[in-house]
Amino acid sequence: MAALILDGKALAMSREQQLSEAVEELVQSGADIPVLATILVGGDPASATYVQMKQNACRRVGMDSVKIELPENTTTKELLEQIDQLNQDPKINGILLQHPVPAQIDERSCFDAIAIEKDVDGVTTTGFGLMSMGEHAFGSATPAGIMTLLQHFDVPLAGKHAVIVGRSPILGKPMAAMLLNANATVTVCHSRTENLASFVSQADIVIGAVGKPELIKAAWIKDGAVVVDAGYHPGGIGDIDKTGLEQRVAALTPVPGGVGPMTINALISQTLSSARIALE
Ligand code: NAP
Repeated sequence: MAALILDGKALAMSREQQLSEAVEELVQSGADIPVLATILVGGDPASATYVQMKQNACRRVGMDSVKIELPENTTTKELLEQIDQLNQDPKINGILLQHPVPAQIDERSCFDAIAIEKDVDGVTTTGFGLMSMGEHAFGSATPAGIMTLLQHFDVPLAGKHAVIVGRSPILGKPMAAMLLNANATVTVCHSRTENLASFVSQADIVIGAVGKPELIKAAWIKDGAVVVDAGYHPGGIGDIDKTGLEQRVAALTPVPGGVGPMTINALISQTLSSARIALE
């Protein structure tokens, strides 16, 4: 049987429709238009494109965005000052610091400087800790978007073995906590994992979050598995080799059009939630 396609693009579009209505309702109730501040440090063209896509999504649902662009040679101190200004500004509901920042910047301390109530991209240590404990915090946008996608398509998680390849702070680690909170049995693999193929072959759910084109081989994946590929590389290639998978797995995310649109959707949904909470 052909795999169910976990179409993140279509789901994000339908959720944008609901978000537009919710933003309009909020504004009609007398609230200010929600605002996302984006910070881009340096001139990496891929990062600039991602930031632009996030700003476009804000506009599509009737929210505003403020674009802050800082030069490549920005210091940690200068970035911290910028984040502090945004933290203090009551008009700003969410702050997105585009990852990665140039090497001279201490990215972790800059992420952690974002006020928890404005951490709509889910990058702070405090937010990660709260989310892991099942307390309220905005989840890291990519794994939060993946969870929404899996839940929308009624992918069973409880009791299933999820194998995540990658343990980055913005993707693999929070993904593990979210799947654990949803009662999956979770294995996290990384660059020091021995015999990666043997772990992937046991997975009911495989999450590719490794950042290397097609590192995870189709042959490792068992029949009937659910395959989620967070990777995106030139030519529309993901982190997972999909050869023949469509004929034998249960479900599959397309690349592009799977995880990417859901990441942006999680970010803008969480910005709206932040604006609602600020109003309360
Ligand atoms: P990252 O920070 O580079 O982390 C990659 C992870 O993969 C690390 O934990 C690393 O292990 C592990 N790894 C590297 N080589 C490996 C190997 N040979 N075997 C097993 N594990 C290995 O990347 P990231 O930011 O998490 O991103 C991962 C992927 O998701 C990328 O393709 C990225 O483009 C994509 N992504 C997509 C979105 C979206 O919106 N669609 C958002 C974010 C990321 P160590 O920890 O041991 O180094």
